[in-house]
Amino acid sequence: MKTLTLKAWQWLGSELDKWADKGQTANFWWRDDDATEPSGALDKLAGLSYHWNVPLALAVIPSRLKPELIDFLRQRTLITVLQHGYAHENHAAPGQRKLELGGTRATVKLIADLEQGYQILEQSFADRFYPVLVPPWNRINDKLLSCLREIGFTGISTMKVRRDAYPAPGLLQVNTHLDPVNWRHTGGFIGVYPAIAILIQHLLAKRTGYRDIDEPTGILTHHLVQNDAVWRFLEDLLQFLSDHPAVTWLDTTTIWR
Ligand SMILES: [Zn+2]
Repeated sequence: MKTLTLKAWQWLGSELDKWADKGQTANFWWRDDDATEPSGALDKLAGLSYHWNVPLALAVIPSRLKPELIDFLRQRTLITVLQHGYAHENHAAPGQRKLELGGTRATVKLIADLEQGYQILEQSFADRFYPVLVPPWNRINDKLLSCLREIGFTGISTMKVRRDAYPAPGLLQVNTHLDPVNWRHTGGFIGVYPAIAILIQHLLAKRTGYRDIDEPTGILTHHLVQNDAVWRFLEDLLQFLSDHPAVTWLDTTTIWR
């Protein structure tokens, strides 16, 4: 197992070497979800961002925001705020997959929720808030997409390779691709080998033209639930990627200019 783990990192290195050989930059970005208040876990997360000088986009739940988070982020300038739905409440019909932005709640109510959430974050974080919507559970009713620009959003971020860079006019989508948490065992780790395989697959698909090369590879974390194994992997990953000359970490401002 150990040898396999080591090999996985070597393979990731070889893939990135191919980018370097072609003079190409492999762009990455980092999103963390579900923030509402400072905590030991958030402190640890912010510490990793600072230590490796990696910008972090923090998806904050507006209706559950505690004012202490505003102070916490003030000095931590590598961290920007995105909007994580409104209340992270499930409105899915019985038996359906969890969904806040759709399901049994009327579209007009969802728009009102999102507008209110937008105002909360804008007033709390001023220009540290970026008008990018991160739908809870990475799901949104398609009907809402064309309404987001009017609320003020210029971006959206969910999970897995995007279908379109612009799912609605003026709305740039940049997703995350690797979520190292094993949700069937809450807070557990999917494992080094599967996690790195997802990264290599995305990089290879972009490099060979099978996938949209302009979409940066996104790492998604959940500071409140991840266990020690996920934290360890995250640290290793930040170090490994930051050490490789082909890698550039993009911040929210660069992605959603
Ligand atoms: Zn969430």
